[in-house]
Amino acid sequence: MNLPDAVVIGGGPAGSRVASRLAEMGHEVVVLERQKQPGERACCTGLISQNCVTDFDIDEKVILKRANSARLFSPSGIMLRLWREKTQACIIDRAAFDTAIADRAQEKGAKYLTGTLVKNLEVGDDRVRLEAVCRGERLNLEARAAVIAAGFGSTLAEKLGLGRVGDFVVGVQAEVATKGTDEVEAYFGEEIAPGFFAWLVPTSSRRARLGLLSRRHPRLYLERLMLSLKTQGKIIEGKVKPCYGGIPLKPLARTYGQRLLVVGDAAGQVKPISGGGIYYGLLCADIAADTLHQALKGDNLSSRALAGYQRRWRKKLGPELDIGYYARKFYERLSDKQIDRMFSLIKSRGIDQALLQAEDLSFDWHGEAVMRLIGHKIVANALQAMKAPFLLGRQP
Ligand SMILES: Cc1cc2nc3c(=O)[nH]c(=O)nc-3n(C[C@H](O)[C@H](O)[C@H](O)COP(=O)(O)OP(=O)(O)OC[C@H]3O[C@@H](n4cnc5c(N)ncnc54)[C@H](O)[C@@H]3O)c2cc1C
Repeated sequence: MNLPDAVVIGGGPAGSRVASRLAEMGHEVVVLERQKQPGERACCTGLISQNCVTDFDIDEKVILKRANSARLFSPSGIMLRLWREKTQACIIDRAAFDTAIADRAQEKGAKYLTGTLVKNLEVGDDRVRLEAVCRGERLNLEARAAVIAAGFGSTLAEKLGLGRVGDFVVGVQAEVATKGTDEVEAYFGEEIAPGFFAWLVPTSSRRARLGLLSRRHPRLYLERLMLSLKTQGKIIEGKVKPCYGGIPLKPLARTYGQRLLVVGDAAGQVKPISGGGIYYGLLCADIAADTLHQALKGDNLSSRALAGYQRRWRKKLGPELDIGYYARKFYERLSDKQIDRMFSLIKSRGIDQALLQAEDLSFDWHGEAVMRLIGHKIVANALQAMKAPFLLGRQP
């Protein structure tokens, strides 16, 4: 009996994109997804760049709203408004997006087994073997190769000796009713989301997603923020049940092995500054599919043959992830007073406007903006005074 070429564990954006590309290249692919419907329980704000929509030909039907501006609030309430003429970001319906991308993979020929939880994965010399539970029934499956795209918290890669993501944070989010907020807002400060940030992202004229990232007590901070925004009149009373999700901040040290690749959140391919993982997951999914296609074609699925995947995605994202993580760790050490000072410096010296005018300022690529910011004389002086680790030894 012929084995399927690849089994993909997880039918989220990264897994479905790998499946779609592999199927398109003529491979037999099976996707195992534990939910009955892809995206059914995704906890996500769904904010992605316009570039992501264009690059991956994302269906207009899943876009709820477009945004070309954002208001950022410092701990004491100093406001920076970032605005550009063109659409910068799109807010998508995550469940509809996951369904659309899975539908596309199926149109190309990938088979989906939903309601199927993979319990174990073993790599043999000539195949991979999986044990799963499919709607209450035990299921054993074999394939030539496996792609782990099971999101944050899956232990499959760790059990196979690939380690675990180096650092993570918890994201919490609730749907709220608003009085008609039209702009994306972000809030900073120790009392709001210590070391991270909170957001209010409108999905329609009267609804928004309110969320935050925190290493501790995320629900408590969300309840407090909700109360504060209610007092300010931005949020209307409403019953809200939050959802939670882990967000990797540092990638897996190793994302490949014999007959094996890891993509998306499972590999920690996430922007460390914002926690957004959809775009990087999709980019890496394409690299994974290309690498696997070549390996399947040449019938060489050795770890060495698949190592090119990691080289390629690190070449594309490595500097971003490194600079982003460094900036993130630095930000986590700032006091509210220091954050306020940065906001007022940026605002009073027009640095925000200069950054906005820079061609290379991007929703997806933050490294350039971070370097530009710390390269700015006034900011660099302020950071020196705060003893920023990446500036030690550097002349402002
Ligand atoms: C509160 C919050 C807000 C966020 N907002 C944004 C945002 O605005 N923009 C953005 O870009 N990112 C955002 N993210 C991150 C984003 O959700 C993830 O980066 C993205 O979902 C990763 O896609 P993925 O395909 O790698 O994993 P996932 O989307 O997690 O998909 C993994 C899939 O695998 C399935 N699965 C898991 N284990 C198994 C198993 N053993 N067997 C079978 N199936 C399995 C799961 O059911 C799931 O469908 C947010 C995250 C959180 C928590």
